[in-house]
Amino acid sequence: MDSIQADVVIIGSGVGGSAVAHRLVGSGARVLMLERGDFLPNESQNSDARAVFGEQRYKTRDIWFDARGAAFRPGQYYHVGGHTKFYGTAMFRFRESDFAATAIDGMTSPAWPIGYGDLAPFYAEAEQLYGVRGAAGFDPTEPPRDAFPHAAIPHEPVIARLAEGLAAQGLRPFPMPSAVDYGPGGTCRRCDSCDAFACRFGAKGDAETRVLRPLLAQGDFRLERRTEVRRLILDDQGRHVVAAEALREGVPIRVEAPVFVLSAGAINSALILLRSACDAAPAGVANRSGVVGRYLMNHHLTGLMGIRPLAVNDTRFPKTLAINDFYHGLPGDEGARGNMQMLGNIRGAMIRPAYPALPGPLADWLGRHSVDVLAMSEDLPDRDSRVRLLPGDRVEVDYRPGGTAAHDRFVRHLRGVLRRAGFPLVLRHRFGIQAPSHQCGTVRMGHDPAQSALDGLCRAHDHPNLHVVDGGFLPSSAALNPALTIAAQALRVGAHLRARRAP
Ligand SMILES: Cc1cc2nc3c(=O)[nH]c(=O)nc-3n(C[C@H](O)[C@H](O)[C@H](O)COP(=O)(O)OP(=O)(O)OC[C@H]3O[C@@H](n4cnc5c(N)ncnc54)[C@H](O)[C@@H]3O)c2cc1C
Repeated sequence: MDSIQADVVIIGSGVGGSAVAHRLVGSGARVLMLERGDFLPNESQNSDARAVFGEQRYKTRDIWFDARGAAFRPGQYYHVGGHTKFYGTAMFRFRESDFAATAIDGMTSPAWPIGYGDLAPFYAEAEQLYGVRGAAGFDPTEPPRDAFPHAAIPHEPVIARLAEGLAAQGLRPFPMPSAVDYGPGGTCRRCDSCDAFACRFGAKGDAETRVLRPLLAQGDFRLERRTEVRRLILDDQGRHVVAAEALREGVPIRVEAPVFVLSAGAINSALILLRSACDAAPAGVANRSGVVGRYLMNHHLTGLMGIRPLAVNDTRFPKTLAINDFYHGLPGDEGARGNMQMLGNIRGAMIRPAYPALPGPLADWLGRHSVDVLAMSEDLPDRDSRVRLLPGDRVEVDYRPGGTAAHDRFVRHLRGVLRRAGFPLVLRHRFGIQAPSHQCGTVRMGHDPAQSALDGLCRAHDHPNLHVVDGGFLPSSAALNPALTIAAQALRVGAHLRARRAP
């Protein structure tokens, strides 16, 4: 078996892994990143809804199984840059309250081992790195912060009218923080295909464009593509990770280093740790607590299409507005809570794969006449919500969402808000675990090694030379998009690793 040596091995090139690389490259350490995917080709299909949604051109061909044994092809994208290649560019900081224990509808959102103050400087760094646009001082739940690196992207007319309709109800719509290179001199062309599509013009603030491409120009960073890590190998005492075994274009290789950073995404990182079970760690690497693969969360996500039958929505970039007035609950119903934010433009070709019986012209009409928003509520962690390996390396995702009833009440309220804002018809679509876009929690952080896999610096309680920096580390999901928080914590971990190398 070929063997490669490095000073730090990072597994996965998503927002977590690339943030650690960003912090370590230039420190003198030989940083090696292993990524199972390749560069996403720049081609016309990147922005073609039929190719992306109909043909599912970029989705993995892997098959997973739900708890009833039903097979599904998950909405997982394996490319350099990870899921940020397709993400919707909403770059929110979590609220101060998200780091504290909260009771919601009789369930508990647990406390984090770190507070907002620990992440604040790294949030600022992550916003700079990803070129986030926004305006401070308008979001009623905003945590303490300085100005955004770039001014907010202005509303187009249809979204400005929606903002007025919300404000008329006493709500406080605010500019949505977004990582798009829009504005004078920017590369964004308002091509109308952003959320859930890859950008052909380098305008989307994804991990490849903003972080990895600049690093690749430097000497001490190496990216091995088409290299899938299968398992981690421990020393005889079971204390240190000594190697990763991988398949590079199908050929086994062994990669050795004194420091390992796992960032393969919440589900895949858990699978790698579980697959690494050995005599010294019979339940899997970093899993003396038994929590690895458990507490899988994905947010409660409902798309709402507000239809004005006589008006065509010609907005090119709608993702400029959000509301957080209900982040801590509805009046008289604290459990029903969450964030509302704009989705990208929904088109007929995106609707039809989910509703094949819907006639094509009707789907296209809905796409043209709708304004599309996303209702997001916190998914509360359940120990029995889990991913695990079955015999034959079959992947089972036994997902148990926590707090569904409260989310349904929140959605009902938002439908009323949209109707009052001028949309007589509001359709809804619930996103499930088949699209695990906000997956998190499977390798949770915590103070107590009996209840968590990682400490507050994402270091495995069981193995001092292993860190896990993807969405798996989140102890709770909050009700806001996770990418900026993953980036901020990974930058914090990277800063710590770099400081440890300093003489
Ligand atoms: C359509 C869509 C829209 C989204 N919109 C938003 C948004 O607007 N805002 C937001 O904050 N979040 C959004 N998200 C979620 C966000 O993209 C993810 O939370 C975030 O990118 C996760 O980063 P990560 O580093 O944890 O993992 P990933 O992005 O999953 O990165 C993991 C990397 O590891 C690689 N990998 C996996 N297994 C292996 C292995 N065995 N060996 C080697 N490499 C491996 C993968 O190919 C991937 O590159 C969206 C997601 C999707 C799918």
